[in-house]
Amino acid sequence: MQRFKDFLSSIDRFEEDYATEITPQHYFGFPLEAVLEVEGSLLSANPENIAYFSMEFGIAPSIYNSFRQKKPMSVKNQFFTHEVFSNYWLCDYLFKVHTDKMLDIPIYGGGLGVLAGDTMKSVADQGLPIVGVGILWNKGYFKQKFWYKHGQIPEELTWDPHSYPGLILLNKVVTIHTQQGDLHLRLWKYYVYSYDKKRACPIILLDSNFKKNDPKFRKLTDQLYRSDEVWWKIFQRVILGIGGMKALEALGYTIAQYHLNEGHAAFALAERSIALGDKSKMPELQQSFIYTCHTPVAAGHDRFRIEDVAKILPEHYIEACQLFGKEAPEAHQINLTLMCLNTCQRVNAVSKKHGEITRLQFPHFASKVRAITNGIHIPTWISESFEQLFDRHQKTLGDWRRTPENLSRVSDLRGDVLFRREVFDAHQANKRHLIETLRRWKLKENILTIGWARRIAGYKRPALIFHDTKRILKLAYEAGPLQIILAGKAHPNDDIGSAHIDEILDHIDQLNEHKRVVRVMILENYDTYFGKLLTNSVDVWLNNPLPPFEASGTSGMKAILNGVVQVSTLDGWIGEAAQRDIGWIFGYRHTGMDIGDEKQLRLDEDSRALYDTLRDVVELYYRTYKKDGVDVESPWIDKMITCISQSAFFNTHRMVQEYRAQMWDQGRTP
Ligand SMILES: *Cc1c(COP(=O)(O)O)cnc(C)c1O
Repeated sequence: MQRFKDFLSSIDRFEEDYATEITPQHYFGFPLEAVLEVEGSLLSANPENIAYFSMEFGIAPSIYNSFRQKKPMSVKNQFFTHEVFSNYWLCDYLFKVHTDKMLDIPIYGGGLGVLAGDTMKSVADQGLPIVGVGILWNKGYFKQKFWYKHGQIPEELTWDPHSYPGLILLNKVVTIHTQQGDLHLRLWKYYVYSYDKKRACPIILLDSNFKKNDPKFRKLTDQLYRSDEVWWKIFQRVILGIGGMKALEALGYTIAQYHLNEGHAAFALAERSIALGDKSKMPELQQSFIYTCHTPVAAGHDRFRIEDVAKILPEHYIEACQLFGKEAPEAHQINLTLMCLNTCQRVNAVSKKHGEITRLQFPHFASKVRAITNGIHIPTWISESFEQLFDRHQKTLGDWRRTPENLSRVSDLRGDVLFRREVFDAHQANKRHLIETLRRWKLKENILTIGWARRIAGYKRPALIFHDTKRILKLAYEAGPLQIILAGKAHPNDDIGSAHIDEILDHIDQLNEHKRVVRVMILENYDTYFGKLLTNSVDVWLNNPLPPFEASGTSGMKAILNGVVQVSTLDGWIGEAAQRDIGWIFGYRHTGMDIGDEKQLRLDEDSRALYDTLRDVVELYYRTYKKDGVDVESPWIDKMITCISQSAFFNTHRMVQEYRAQMWDQGRTP
């Protein structure tokens, strides 16, 4: 009971706001014991305690472990309708897509955040005492609206953290003394539960939007990745790194190691080095900080002019930053990536290929860069029909939730005609669910359906499949009809990204007269809900980044888990799966020591390679899916089974085990 009372005493306005949701037994409908247990560990001097810093967390409660709450859900936290832009424009005009979901807790922008969320879930599944540190983005990332001839128009998103299920406000406030006055941050907490709900991990979310702050500071935590002025960018990183460290201390957590998910939180190093004082600073920092680098793309590495940082942070912080973050003694900038590389002994890239590229990019640090390939959290991304299928084959697959490596054993069932049919049927059930969700657009179950959904960024080449619409039409008229579904957001300040969306809308419009053979649609507001819906239901997952700029990629991992075959360039995680027959690999291959130019997109050659590949895909598909039933002997089904078997490796359960063995355990002083 004392533990419970202590826990309640950390919550702001418990009686008024949370008494109906938190009882000695329950936390928003889940067992409270899990919360008390992890709090007990974090408050003790457990050498396993770790803080995981990330600018974004994609937790996806709309599709997994949704909390129950007695209070009614605020309409601001519901998000039921989405618009569509398709070549069946009459439909777009008349209808919206209706879903039954709640708004995802809108504190992520894309794959980096989804990975952070999946990591926390696997950490909870394995019962590790880890606390996430992030920011409560009061206006999320942004709401996306398509305007024909204008591309994407970003709109402001509003939501209500006070009534969001599972999110609680704490009564501690931390303060950062900046050159522009005191910046106060209040703290929120959200618990990520394990799949069996027996364990949980907290995420602390920092928030500047409250009365105590000067008005100029209140908007700092409004929008994730706001980048129109350097002032916002630096402040957001100061909040995460310095505010995050102060929050951990204010909460009384004893943290043994700090894991920086990307360089955004690098100021935490300055905070820690100041706290440690002059002596023995380096060994201590090297030992207790871990850094995961996520991208070879230049825009992903922050550089700030020292004079700009000095407008915000006091002198002793600037000294600490200069010590670790200058590219050369005479440099006028600090580089957050360099700060992390200089100080963290253990650094990882997010796939084998990305490890090679990172070593090329940062040759000084090559010896400490390891590669730990990203994953996805299986219980989050598996569809109901495949979950049931795996459970029916428990004799072969055992407790696959607890030990996902068992999934490699689906290969043992390859010769089982019944199983082959079940795999195809489970997929068709998912496809029917997609068609039902988009029913107004009259998609068909027997037409090959291609999916592409991810952040719209230049190197991901979102419009590659439309590069030569004549060829797509020729393919569809000659080999068989197609349905193509896309989704994705471009960063609001990324003009090139927005131009890609504009281009896609244009191509869709050009295909208006051909909707009987090529049905194309792009869904607004790609999020984890649509991420799950699309990755588990289309027939083919298309992945066409320009090698070697996709560090890992994870959406394809969600697809293979659900038996969706891949059509991909050879990049990121695909490099480790391509020896197996997971689908088709096409296009430019990166070799050699030169990373190349991310702006030279090779659209002509790679679109040709894509169309050639798609011809094989379409032909095999229509040989497999016949009017009188599926050909269970088809190599298509072999590919589906191979895909599933690869999920044994491409998951965050395995990834977290590798983090433990290669990063976290190494940092503990014996
Ligand atoms: C999985 C996911 C991503 C990451 O996809 P990539 O293939 O890594 O680009 C981005 N956004 C959402 C909403 C996702 O679910």
